Amino acid sequence: MSDLIQVRPKTEGWKQKLGPDGKPLLMFAEPKRGKPPIHLVDLTAEERAERLKEAGVQAFRAKQIAAHYFTHYTSDPSEMTDLPAAGRAELVGSLLPPLLTEVKRLQTDNGDTIKFLWRLFDGALVESVLMRYTGRITLCISSQAGCGMNCPFCATGQAGLTRNMSAGEIVDQIVRANAVIAKGELGGSKAKMKDAPERVTNIVFMGMGEPLANYDRVMKAVRTMVARQPEGLGMSARGITVSTVGLVPAIQKLADENVPVTFALSLHAPDDELRDELIPINSKWKVDEALDAAREYFDKTGRRVSIEYALIKDMNDHGWRADLLAEKLNARGKGWVHVNPIPLNPTPGSIWTASEPAVQNEFVRRLEKAGVPTTLRDTRGKEIDGACGQLAAAE
Ligand code: SAH
Repeated sequence: MSDLIQVRPKTEGWKQKLGPDGKPLLMFAEPKRGKPPIHLVDLTAEERAERLKEAGVQAFRAKQIAAHYFTHYTSDPSEMTDLPAAGRAELVGSLLPPLLTEVKRLQTDNGDTIKFLWRLFDGALVESVLMRYTGRITLCISSQAGCGMNCPFCATGQAGLTRNMSAGEIVDQIVRANAVIAKGELGGSKAKMKDAPERVTNIVFMGMGEPLANYDRVMKAVRTMVARQPEGLGMSARGITVSTVGLVPAIQKLADENVPVTFALSLHAPDDELRDELIPINSKWKVDEALDAAREYFDKTGRRVSIEYALIKDMNDHGWRADLLAEKLNARGKGWVHVNPIPLNPTPGSIWTASEPAVQNEFVRRLEKAGVPTTLRDTRGKEIDGACGQLAAAE
């Protein structure tokens, strides 16, 4: 690996507003748009009861409807024969309005990976990716239509933020995926799965959007995922990974939520000089602040955190950067962190490329030699443009 060549990030194909420095503006607030229909997931238990009362329906019906949604993965009133026929369609429609319309589905040749393109009520497009592994099924979900964080290597970042997704829209991605699995449409080897009916076991907030920029709705969705059936999906918090560019105050808030999700920080560079350009939010919260917040997350939750590092040829893959990363992590203690390098998935038309395999291996070797647990991640779904950073939702 040569430590001499240094390629600098360059923005390509940006569609959003530029600031005085010629770079795209970071977007936290969403442009004004209509709100998606309110869904069962968006309501508290009290609000659900209130709605039923208004409709003149007994309160226990909310539980029946929730059971259909969270355990049978259906929003179709014709399947809910335990509800009185009179007014059933209206009642179900008011609590389970359709949120996601399937526009396109791409599946890998061996069938174990499916990418869904969904249209939201206002025409906004989002994607999710369903992946079967041995003993688990992971769904990569979106939390925003578009993203305002402008990371130049990420396809989603190039069109800016359209809007935040509602908690209902976030959770519905899982319910719809579970329905697809229940119908037997996800291929791949089922060996080693338990006897229980198959469903999504792991969630990664690594689809479109910056989850911590849509904090309240993402947390409401997470609470619904971990709530017991039939009030929620009954998933384990540790199987849910929240990945962020490093919004420090939100990381601190997340650490105090008492929902021990797995936390991932998209670092991609250990030095501010490069990270300022690669992860534009670094202009606000620096590498050391983001790492301190990650360490604090471990201290408060006991959950080992992940550092995401996309290896980009001659840009961030230098040996000295591996050493500097190890130094910064070790300076904050041992046993609290795990590094996940992943070869860059070039966005279509990009001049950037993934690091050479030998360079990837050297990067990993240096981290491991310094005692930092490191796992090179695979890039599932590449052939269907479903790999990390390729979710652009262009039709
Ligand atoms: N906004 C959040 C989550 C969405 S992206 C975040 O940034 O963490 C999920 C992961 O994919 C992040 O680590 C992101 O940096 C990474 N990623 C984005 N574009 C990529 C690309 N082209 N190749 C590989 N990983 C990429």
